[in-house]
Amino acid sequence: MPTPISKSKKAKICALSIERSEGICYLCEKPFEKGLEWGKEIVPDHLDDDETNWDVDNISPVHKECNYIKREFIDWKIKGRELYKKNQNSIDPELKKKIRKELVEMDKEMDYNRAYGELVQNYLRDLFFDPRGNKLEDEEVDFISILNAITKKAKKQWGTGSQVTIRRHLDAECSTEGAYLKDRVKGRLKIRLR
Ligand SMILES: [Zn+2]
Repeated sequence: MPTPISKSKKAKICALSIERSEGICYLCEKPFEKGLEWGKEIVPDHLDDDETNWDVDNISPVHKECNYIKREFIDWKIKGRELYKKNQNSIDPELKKKIRKELVEMDKEMDYNRAYGELVQNYLRDLFFDPRGNKLEDEEVDFISILNAITKKAKKQWGTGSQVTIRRHLDAECSTEGAYLKDRVKGRLKIRLR
């Protein structure tokens, strides 16, 4: 099973691969013409032809047509594999270090985001369910006080608390797919069980 990869990480890998390509399509060896749009006329090529392999060394930007031609053109397939090998043994360790570091930062960010999500979920669960998991009926709690309480908890736990992130997770929990409902009672935002 390939590791799932986030959209933002894909975008980052593409951006880094563009930087490494120095604006040249490695297949036809021509520079990308001005005005070409990334994702339209320029696409990421999986050098080893494995579309699930998002290793940063396996991605290089190419013309869309070149990408298309490569499918039927063995010489270009070989060229792709050679570039993959070259990237893996890149003689530019500084660039490589930079790329890896940025990707690790992204993973950290994702972990951070996940941790916030869990904090919000746990807080709401403790608030609206008893320890046995039974619903506490008719419980309706002020949105802002929940937001503040979770922020306080985050600060205590991590020394920092992003209210914007917490609010985003709270909103997600109160979306139609979530277990909770957000509505306005006498002008104040409240959260209750759906
Ligand atoms: Zn090309």
